[in-house]
Amino acid sequence: MRIRAKRTENHSPADWLITGGWLNQVHPADISQKFDCGGENVFLAAGFIDLQINGYGGIDFNDAGTTTEQISAVTRALWRTGVTAYCPTVITESPDHISRCLTNVIRAADESPEFALAFTGIHLEGPFISAEDGPRGAHPRQHVRPPDWEQFERWQDTARGQIRILTLSPEWPESFDFIERASATGVIVAIGHTAANPARIADAVRAGAKMSTHLGNGSHAKIDRHPNYIWEQLANDELWASFIVDGHHLPPSVVKCFLRGKGIARSILVTDAIAAAGCAPGKYKLGNVEVEVTEAGRVCLPGTPYLAGSALEMHDAIGKTVAYSGAALEDALRMASANPAKLLGLDDKFGTIEVGRRADLVLFEWDEQAMALSVVATIVNGEIVYRRNNDE
Ligand SMILES: [Zn+2]
Repeated sequence: MRIRAKRTENHSPADWLITGGWLNQVHPADISQKFDCGGENVFLAAGFIDLQINGYGGIDFNDAGTTTEQISAVTRALWRTGVTAYCPTVITESPDHISRCLTNVIRAADESPEFALAFTGIHLEGPFISAEDGPRGAHPRQHVRPPDWEQFERWQDTARGQIRILTLSPEWPESFDFIERASATGVIVAIGHTAANPARIADAVRAGAKMSTHLGNGSHAKIDRHPNYIWEQLANDELWASFIVDGHHLPPSVVKCFLRGKGIARSILVTDAIAAAGCAPGKYKLGNVEVEVTEAGRVCLPGTPYLAGSALEMHDAIGKTVAYSGAALEDALRMASANPAKLLGLDDKFGTIEVGRRADLVLFEWDEQAMALSVVATIVNGEIVYRRNNDE
């Protein structure tokens, strides 16, 4: 297959040849040759990788009844947003409920070829998080608990070792031993939904914590101006940080400061999308929690100031990152592809557009005025899985 598209860095069209699922060759566009996908005015990027998706299009990974067919449907729907790989995210619930949700994901990875290609491990967010209102976010308080290694091992067995990211709060004294053990098994421990003091944040990093989950969210509405757990994580060069850039979770000025403080090389865009993402505004029941999606796309717990996940799509997160932070488009794209691939240790496989990498690609148009990215086509493992025009 031949793809014609421009790189964002130099704007000159090139022809990309794909064989057997892999990027095989690239050379300047040969206008005497026909191509299968793309065009002179379309840009090419590596497929987007989302480390935090709770659900999409009415389907919830936290519903114990979610089927393989539904998980396949989420995967296909995400192609329209440029996402070719992701970590289904399971949040705080009872041990048995979490096990059932993990089982559903693992079954889908066995049974659904399209999900198997997209699956980059499970993100378990909780239940070892802060019990305090604010940091706890929308996680149900009755299931929040201190880190428990034996319980985690049971879940990891259920998940056949596929829990790849674990978000916890280091305010629990049990955290440090837990982080050391989990990190030793290759799990990426992330700090999030935390009320920990700065010293504990630093201790968690020394114990092996690698990332801040949606930094600036899952926190108190009011905190000491300094020191506090946000500055401490932002300043720590050992920590990657994920950000929800939807215009609701973080104001534009904060996005700009956070991204410049953390640096492009350590920043990752996530959607934290919930089942109501991709749905019309209204009230939705997620497990036992009711959430409301407003006309403006804000997802909150009705009657509170607290956000409860997002309805964000990755192509929008990239446009908003450029708009809010002044980042170059190629840097915003990197935060949605190469950076998460690197954190996951999958950068030798995908996340960049290099010969020898798996052909997971997004072709898109970029509206410089509106700072809006529009996905034209998505390619997974060398096959065109989505074309915008087929949809219209
Ligand atoms: Zn969260």
